[in-house]
Amino acid sequence: MSGMTVGVLAVQGAVAEHIETLESTFSEVGVSGVGRRIVNPPDLDGIDALIIPGGESTTISKLIIARGLYDSIRDLAGSIPVLGTCAGAVVMSSGIVDDRGKVPRLLELMDMTVIRNAFGPQGESFEADVEVDWALVPEGAGMEEGPYHAVFIRAPVITEVGVGCTPMASHDGMTVMALQGRLLVTSFHPELGDDTRVHRLLLDMV
Ligand code: GLN
Repeated sequence: MSGMTVGVLAVQGAVAEHIETLESTFSEVGVSGVGRRIVNPPDLDGIDALIIPGGESTTISKLIIARGLYDSIRDLAGSIPVLGTCAGAVVMSSGIVDDRGKVPRLLELMDMTVIRNAFGPQGESFEADVEVDWALVPEGAGMEEGPYHAVFIRAPVITEVGVGCTPMASHDGMTVMALQGRLLVTSFHPELGDDTRVHRLLLDMV
């Protein structure tokens, strides 16, 4: 693999942190690659994978629509891997329990529903060691085992998954990571901390 370009949706949220983690991941796996900020539809041209970061899902969703990115992202998700983290996972879901219409338009990429802020408000943010079942996906087969030290900030949980959507990790009995084809979501923030395994899985799926 060489010359990989990974887009990071850069309308709101933890964009710089994902770009930094991508840079470390590229050097760890020995791939030449760049993280590209995605602001307008032409920025999506030629990317090999896309990340939708954490932040505020209502805002991210509004800006996806306002910048004319909605249809392009949906189309691209049929052909490249996409990682959604925290608010990004919310935006990629197909339904929100009890949201009363606050998130304007979900991308409906993953056959799953979520509960926003499932662990409580900002003050209830926490870190926890999570066991990820990497071997559930072929690309994760060679991944080192061991707990993933995960940062949860007003995190959602995944409540219902359809047939093609596989839960990969849970915390307190609730699903916090799932995969559907080459679409991957985490409730937590894999861009905060030193563990690059989630980003590696994304690159391995390219
Ligand atoms: N609770 C936020 C939302 O649903 C997500 C928080 C985050 O991304 N850290 O938009």
